Amino acid sequence: MSGARPRPGLRDVEPYEAPQLEVKARLNTNECPYPLPPAFGEELARAVRDLGLNRYPDREAEELRARLAALNGHTLEGTWVANGSNEILQQLLLAYGGPGRRVALFEPTYAMHARLAWVTQSDVIRVELEEPWKIELRDLLTAFEARPDIVFVCSPNNPTGNAQDVRPAIDVATQRSALVVVDEAYVEFGGDSAASILHAFPNLNLVVVRTFSKAFALAGARLGYCLAAPEVIEDLRRVRLPYHLSSLTQAAGLVALDHRAEALEIIAAVHAERDRLADALPTLGVEAFPSDANFVLFRPPRPARDVWQGLLDREVLVRDCSDRVPGCLRVTAGTPEEVDLFLSALEEVLR
Ligand code: PMP
Repeated sequence: MSGARPRPGLRDVEPYEAPQLEVKARLNTNECPYPLPPAFGEELARAVRDLGLNRYPDREAEELRARLAALNGHTLEGTWVANGSNEILQQLLLAYGGPGRRVALFEPTYAMHARLAWVTQSDVIRVELEEPWKIELRDLLTAFEARPDIVFVCSPNNPTGNAQDVRPAIDVATQRSALVVVDEAYVEFGGDSAASILHAFPNLNLVVVRTFSKAFALAGARLGYCLAAPEVIEDLRRVRLPYHLSSLTQAAGLVALDHRAEALEIIAAVHAERDRLADALPTLGVEAFPSDANFVLFRPPRPARDVWQGLLDREVLVRDCSDRVPGCLRVTAGTPEEVDLFLSALEEVLR
């Protein structure tokens, strides 16, 4: 037993982790069910061979940022990359949060926003949304009454699946000089991107955060990026670790961008399965919420935990969200076979 003393309260908190189990259908973490085509792997292997890993990576990841900037019609100076969008979010909180600083968020939402606020010792202001979880003006006013330094908006939102109209949040934030962080991890699947607002007003206090983990089929590479005013990116540079993004990750991102068209084709297949889930769930007597993302939140007529376990017993892993949304679970739109398996397992569990 070590005598080391961690920060107060640390051991009251469990690690943030979703189960990683070997089952037939892993539908609990909203990954893309298909890998990029074999040519991606072959090109990446060639790129890795030429990397020269004895040297540190390009600290500024300039080539990758330039490609992402061009893709999004944004400036290089306003584009930043990190290890997954989670690291972008962490860097934003390191730079704009901290002791005595306040972070507002609209619950239920992606749990890492509050978790990273806690990690960086920022205070969290939680505004509870009502079903169907649209952020209304009254919710914005409640959030801003607490004079936050950062406001998180997740659109499409995880775990509820609905896209938000982010413009009102940005309007209010601009008047109050808070930084609005729009988490667009699922934006390729639906909803409008806040990037167009950033293009029209490049110096807004607005950060648009994106990931390669979902629509880009690259969760294993850990790559995320953000678009913002150059001033914000300068601040992120002040808190990032030196050489934070490995040459391997940068290479994976560059090669993946060459295969963007194939990634976009996968999106159509994911949409089809998401819509099939949304149509089939009510026929089983299950409430399914409309989704703009690659997953569906649903409320079965039996306790969520029992349903989760019943599905797992049939080798289907979904996310139990009942701690955040009463009675609800979340299922990722997988392959047609995975969705078939999920639906037949759920029918059995509810029989
Ligand atoms: N934002 C949201 C809303 C998410 O759901 C996730 C992953 N589940 C992330 C960010 C983080 O993704 P990553 O770090 O893989 O980019």
